[in-house]
Order: sequence, then C-alpha cells, then structure tokens
Amino acid sequence: MICPKCGCDSDHVINSRKWGKAVKRRRVCESCGFRYNTVEEYGNAAAMKIMQLVYRDLMQNLKAAVAKTFEDYKKFLNEQ
Ligand SMILES: [Zn+2]
Repeated sequence: MICPKCGCDSDHVINSRKWGKAVKRRRVCESCGFRYNTVEEYGNAAAMKIMQLVYRDLMQNLKAAVAKTFEDYKKFLNEQ
C-alpha cells in the first residue's frame, strides 16, 4: 500500500478484520509511522494493484524528472 502521507510503499498490517464481504486493515507506514485504514474487496484487488503500480511508476518518473532538472540547473549555473 502507498502511504497517503509520505508516498512510501512499505507498510505493515497491525490489525485485520472482516468488514462485510471485504477485509479492513489497519496499517502503519514504515517510513513515517502514519496510521491508516484500507478496505480490500476481492473483485477490486486487481484494479487496486494496477492503481498502485501506476502510482509507483508515476512517482519514479517524477523523481527522475526532478533529478534531471536539478542536474541541468547545476550545469547551467556552472556555465555562467
Ligand atoms: Zn508514510
């Protein structure tokens, strides 16, 4: 799961319980310690996984783009 606070994708589950046909989980972010709830539904699992992967790719691309811009900026400053 992706932490809603810091975007980190490692967490651990501290509590799970049935919630209708779904499973409700209490999670703690391993990076910032933020606690949040998730609800997992069986029919939704694949879609949720895809959303997670898309989000992770997006974040990685964003980080790469920011790093590249920063490098270009440093190059530009060195040329002045
Ligand atoms: Zn976090």
